[in-house]
Amino acid sequence: MSSVKEECAVFGVYGHEEAAQITYLGLYSLQHRGQESSGIVTSDGKRVYEHKDLGLVSKVFNERIIKHLSGHMAIGHNRYSTTGLTRLENVQPFLVNCKIGKIAVAHNGNLVNAVEIRNAMENEGSIFRSTMDSEIIVHLIARSKEKRLEDMIAEALNSIKGAFSLVFMTKSKIIAARDTRGFRPLCIGKLGDSWIFSSESCAFDLIGATYIREVEPGEVCVIDENGLESIRFAEPEERLHKCIFEFIYFSRPDSKVFGENVDKVRRELGRRLADESPTEADFVISVPDSSNTIALGYAERSKLPFELGLIRNHYVGRTFIQPRQKNRDWDVRIKFNPVRGVLKGKRIVVVDDSIVRGSTMKKLVTMLRQAGTAEVHLRIGSPPIEHSCYYGIDTPTQGELIASTHSVQKIQEFLGVDSLRYLSIEGLLACVSDPETFCVSCFSGAYPITRHGEYEKDVFEDTKVCGEGPEVKGEMES
Ligand code: SF4
Repeated sequence: MSSVKEECAVFGVYGHEEAAQITYLGLYSLQHRGQESSGIVTSDGKRVYEHKDLGLVSKVFNERIIKHLSGHMAIGHNRYSTTGLTRLENVQPFLVNCKIGKIAVAHNGNLVNAVEIRNAMENEGSIFRSTMDSEIIVHLIARSKEKRLEDMIAEALNSIKGAFSLVFMTKSKIIAARDTRGFRPLCIGKLGDSWIFSSESCAFDLIGATYIREVEPGEVCVIDENGLESIRFAEPEERLHKCIFEFIYFSRPDSKVFGENVDKVRRELGRRLADESPTEADFVISVPDSSNTIALGYAERSKLPFELGLIRNHYVGRTFIQPRQKNRDWDVRIKFNPVRGVLKGKRIVVVDDSIVRGSTMKKLVTMLRQAGTAEVHLRIGSPPIEHSCYYGIDTPTQGELIASTHSVQKIQEFLGVDSLRYLSIEGLLACVSDPETFCVSCFSGAYPITRHGEYEKDVFEDTKVCGEGPEVKGEMES
């Protein structure tokens, strides 16, 4: 279920005569990471070409547009906003002109010191075009006194704090970089002689590229006509903080992120959950699609059948017109429909990846009850989310997270289920290799980098652009 909001996808290709086409396909396979807007910037070594808009990849691009995006190098971005609202000037890649010529950036993550840096720059006279934290990165590069581009980027990256997997493009180079804690994934692949960067490896499969490795925390990879040069802007932190939610929900099961297969880890979440919280029931169902793999792991370990008890409508757009008839929970009903013939009179285990506010799950449970289920036992493949994420995931403020104000028993009562169990933090960490390298801050509240003060993702917004914004975002709340 869309329990937690997506983040962003970045993609880059160097040395391919169809760079725009390859990037388009890459963004297509990374659509799950962000659906608000999409963009591609290309270069033929002399000129830079750009196209971006609000909407899905399939809506933003067509054959004619892709043909016009000339060049042998390209970077692309799919956005789900974590800082800055959904408006055209916030669509990435963010392309600017500065003393080194044109430079474009695509960012996955969230900067925790963006407010301080931007306020200081604005006090000195800087003018910002967007309301994204990512824009300060190109300002820092443009202000650098260093001579070489790589050193300018390194200096800029040493000034920002937080989560960033970045892909830059100038007229002649593609540069990828990752923060020193490694919050977000970023992999390197090869397609013949071409170099590819992608948030997840599922994009490599579609274009026929081979996975090489991850960009390392603190590393800057520069690709130009001389091939790949690896430099460091900083040493990796002694304690890495790779986002464990990539395995719980964000990444596709067919991807490799942080060097591990998502499907393998996600199944293990289900097995651990079954070990920790076995259930007497007739069968297991998932909340499709995100919890399918966890549910399969749960069913396998419990030796219970896996059934398709909920059917998901895959063609739901981000907005739809709700009839005026009240109390029908249209948002959930339009997305999921229970299979009455399967559910009636049965004791079922419902497996989901996470609970954020609890409101969507409550509607779903009501729907399952109305379909005639005898018992509903809810099993969650992650611990209770008690804290907000500051590192690139759009979670609500802490007060809106149901687990921050309610005990598990109270959540069970609120949802109206016969039993509710979460996976423990220890169980979660037991499912990954090198557990000490993962971030679990949204469960534990122990933040590796603090942010000064609570602020919303519209922190830099002070104008309303009519016709853009909230109506593009209709993803249901959970
Ligand atoms: S706080 Fe949670 S969602 Fe955010 S990076 Fe850490 S594990 Fe991921």
